Amino acid sequence: MAKIAFIGLGNMGLPMAINLVKAGHEVNGFDLVAAAIEAAAKAGIKVMPSAAASLAGVEIAITMLPNGQLVLGVYNDILSAAAPGTLFVDSSTIDVDSARKAHELARAAGFAAVDAPVSGGVGGAAAGTLTFMAGGEDAAFARARPVLEAMGRKIVHCGGAGAGQAAKICNNMILGISMIGVCEAFVLGEKLGLSAQALYDVASTSSGQCWSLTSYCPVPGPVPASPSNNDYKPGFAAALMLKDLLLSQDAAASAGAATALGKHAAEIYREYVDAGHAGMDFSGIINAIREK
Ligand code: NAD
Repeated sequence: MAKIAFIGLGNMGLPMAINLVKAGHEVNGFDLVAAAIEAAAKAGIKVMPSAAASLAGVEIAITMLPNGQLVLGVYNDILSAAAPGTLFVDSSTIDVDSARKAHELARAAGFAAVDAPVSGGVGGAAAGTLTFMAGGEDAAFARARPVLEAMGRKIVHCGGAGAGQAAKICNNMILGISMIGVCEAFVLGEKLGLSAQALYDVASTSSGQCWSLTSYCPVPGPVPASPSNNDYKPGFAAALMLKDLLLSQDAAASAGAATALGKHAAEIYREYVDAGHAGMDFSGIINAIREK
């Protein structure tokens, strides 16, 4: 069993760290928010007074933070406090350029690093069923894998530094675009007098089939577990979808890739979030489309 530092004990980080404790690892935790610290202490995480202090005696340092700037700031604080051989794993969803910078900072200080963002949301974090998309050298990934397995069900090594973040934002760009496409089709169907169930029965077994339709149907009824049956409570909040679409646009600009639909999807989600729906499930975009 490993001794692990876990920095960022929010909606995702806390249940992930708890699963590490349940798997028998010893976890030092740090967060800036008192409520997170209290909940962590109750769950058997050893709460430390600073991010740097949480590195004391650990073999692996995991970060789960809101954005790339914070990850780089925390790396600048903690790298000098790490013992030789410490492995750095960042599971936050951040921009690819910052992810690569985090790898460089770690490498310059003599440490191996892995970017390992997740999909599966808060439910997957609590259940230990997350998917991890990892980027980094083979040896670093091999060391990270058993620890990631305590928090997730599927662990994919996507390539070198930043490849995990690249896979994450490419996947979520597909998701944002496909959700808007499915919503537009249901609204068009409604206006043509087609029942939602009839459209679902056809499209779910035809070439329109996709995850946004069959696992996360944006109209209530056909898929009982989807957030549309629960007043569009998340689920996956529209603000997080917008964040990931904007990250995909940063990456597309930086890499020189044409992503016209990704750009348009980001604009559509920006409008939805700015209209006061940041905390709604991202499938709630169907209501904005219907009202247009
Ligand atoms: P969150 O806001 O609930 O948690 C982030 C935590 O980081 C907060 O508790 C905050 O206090 C802490 N923090 C911020 N700066 C810090 C610092 N300098 N030192 C220590 N702690 C600090 O966010 P979350 O929902 O847990 O998401 C975390 C990451 O996971 C994000 O990058 C998000 O995009 C990604 N993600 C979230 C979901 C989801 O469904 N919530 C799904 C997949 C990926």
